[in-house]
Amino acid sequence: MPSFVITEKCDGCKAQDKTACQYICPHDLMALDREKMKAYNQEPEQCWECYNCVKICPQQAIEVRGYSDFVPLGSQTIPLRGTDSIMWTIKFRNGLTKRFKFPIRTTVEGSVDPYAGKPEPDFSKIKEPGFFTGPARTE
Ligand code: SF4
Ligand code: SF4
Repeated sequence: MPSFVITEKCDGCKAQDKTACQYICPHDLMALDREKMKAYNQEPEQCWECYNCVKICPQQAIEVRGYSDFVPLGSQTIPLRGTDSIMWTIKFRNGLTKRFKFPIRTTVEGSVDPYAGKPEPDFSKIKEPGFFTGPARTE
């Protein structure tokens, strides 16, 4: 089920130029109603339920209901981001609650340089096997 905003919790990211959910959605689905200062998913049928907006929302105002093959219908999946980890709380409809904690990246947003320390591309080697990120070939 696509993301939806709990309007009572959303504060429109305090009228910043771009809200957190707009910034993070890989599909540009989130929009802000500037009159009401509430965000909404403008094309729910395009949502692939990636949970990015759920994880980034500072007000925990966005939910995605998981499919039954992931968590049984009627349950809730609630992420809570910390500085170095994320805690997922799964509440099953029979009252059972499970929590899963995973480490997350701690580098500053936008600071990763994926090509740092890698050689410049050499198109004369384009047909050679291997990847430029792999160890140098010796033969
Ligand atoms: S990130 Fe959360 S609080 Fe900010 S606009 Fe989106 S739903 Fe509202
Ligand atoms: S769940 Fe993913 S695709 Fe759907 S609105 Fe949120 S960020 Fe966009």
